[in-house]
Amino acid sequence: MVMDGDEIRAGAAEMLDAGAHDRLDTMRHSAAHIMAAAVLDLFPDAKLGIGPAIRDGFYYDFDLPRALTPADLDAIEARMLAQVSADLPFERSEVPREAALAELEAAGQDYKVEIIRELSDEQARVISFYRHGSFSDLCRGPHVESTGQLGPFKLLHTAGAYWRGNEKRPMLQRIYGTVWESQEQLEDYLWRMEEAKKRDHRKLGRELDLFSFHPESPAAPFWHPRGMALWRELEAWSLQVRREGGFVEVRTPGVVRKELWETSGHWALYQDNMFVVPEGDYTSGLKPMNCPESMLIFKTSLRSYRDLPMRLADYSWLFRNERTGALAGMFRVRQLTQDDSHVICRDDQVIDEVNLALSLVRRQYEPFGFAPHFKLATRPEKKLGTEEFWDMAEGKLAEALKSTGIDYAVDPGGGAFYAPKIDVFINDAIGREWQMATVQVDYQLPQRFEMEYRTADGGTARPVVIHYAIYGSFERFIGVILEHFSGALPAWLAPLQVMVVPIADRHIAYALEVRDALAAAGIRAEVDDRGERMQAKLRDAQEQQIPVMLVLGDRDQEARAVSPRLRTGESSQGVPLADFVAEIRGRVEARELWPYAAKE
Ligand SMILES: [Zn+2]
Ligand SMILES: [Zn+2]
Repeated sequence: MVMDGDEIRAGAAEMLDAGAHDRLDTMRHSAAHIMAAAVLDLFPDAKLGIGPAIRDGFYYDFDLPRALTPADLDAIEARMLAQVSADLPFERSEVPREAALAELEAAGQDYKVEIIRELSDEQARVISFYRHGSFSDLCRGPHVESTGQLGPFKLLHTAGAYWRGNEKRPMLQRIYGTVWESQEQLEDYLWRMEEAKKRDHRKLGRELDLFSFHPESPAAPFWHPRGMALWRELEAWSLQVRREGGFVEVRTPGVVRKELWETSGHWALYQDNMFVVPEGDYTSGLKPMNCPESMLIFKTSLRSYRDLPMRLADYSWLFRNERTGALAGMFRVRQLTQDDSHVICRDDQVIDEVNLALSLVRRQYEPFGFAPHFKLATRPEKKLGTEEFWDMAEGKLAEALKSTGIDYAVDPGGGAFYAPKIDVFINDAIGREWQMATVQVDYQLPQRFEMEYRTADGGTARPVVIHYAIYGSFERFIGVILEHFSGALPAWLAPLQVMVVPIADRHIAYALEVRDALAAAGIRAEVDDRGERMQAKLRDAQEQQIPVMLVLGDRDQEARAVSPRLRTGESSQGVPLADFVAEIRGRVEARELWPYAAKE
């Protein structure tokens, strides 16, 4: 089965921290208690929902008599600081269910009462409370020893949240906060959040006119002309990398009868995420992944050991019935396309093929300036197959990693339940870590599809499948690079590469000639012939983050020259048109990271 192997994390939509942060998680959850105590101090009638640690921080949900204001957050912070100074110890006590219910009912804590009522007998065997100062909360722990151990923190914002995520239940007020081990970490985090807001890909997508979302097709982008130009560049590059890697392209259908999904295991394990389509007497599913169909292509003829490895790239549409409502933009879409790759090979070819996958990953990320790092995700607790199988499969991935000289970390227990995998991560320009590609070795799918090839000695053997997508999904990758570059895409990716700006109307004819010369060289250029002042045109082009503006005046026209101004502010004058065309063409073809201002 291939759920995890092919899971491109479009649904995960999350950045990942570099490692486990148990200590920070404990601190963050403790901060939620301290915040709840402060809220109760301010609003004695507040009813408490839940208050977990989350990535980078914590929240707590409250039922309050009125909407919170920014001034309330300041007051809550001040009360939290007072508790930190008082260094109150966290004390655990265990209480029988009836006593716990009585205490919480008396306190009017209806949501907590509901939680206890719904516990199974097993879960209710030990009900624990944690108290610090006069505040006590139903909780399993753990916590820091005392409130003085809380690191520097800040309350961030509030949001409405339905109790238990159910829109038929009351809407509570959720307060988000963040806490870190040092002031420096806190400030760094707040800076990253500020930066992330500025470079939010949903905002950039609107400003740069790349795509839009519409309620008529929830969580599915509508690609505008400029967005498609970007898409096609990414696609061309990734197909070039595949061709260099010996891949051939296939395309497989979107509507597929359920029998195939039964064979692949998706029907049993992934149906909730599939769009099911009735077709007269049949039931079909829109395909959420390409793998099973590539297996059918393999099986269309008797393959020999000489035919392997077979490397198939399939860039078809995929459909996943993700829950909508989350405003995740490109990070959680219901229709997506992967640069999907399936290598069907002999067992003795696995290490070489994983090696190839790793080198293609690095090659494909190069022109983005991404230096990927790798984690080997090993056997989880719940798994299929014997320990010997896992030793063998993990050994192969480790050997492939070692033989390429790649430094890698191990993610113990992070593998899929049927096979280990290599997860690929990048750090973006503001230090966020993103999981991108996954390379997965799969011994299950060939078995489910009863795939065989003829061996050298005339017998038969079962092949192995290696799954990977290097961008992951185009949608998510575009979201990531828009935020990474803050919309200032390198020239080779920029939807519009050159804006030609005639100074006066008498320069328009020459401007059109310049544009045509650029177009003939494969450069995407437009002429801004609006009756605006030159400065206004330059400002607009700058706001659109167009890499190059070509200002044309009398002298340029006479000399058949151009005066380029880069987005980064550098400019030159009187460059012969042919020289400029050759220069930008060279930079675009080489997929240079250009133009960029040198980092301070
Ligand atoms: Zn707790
Ligand atoms: Zn696959």
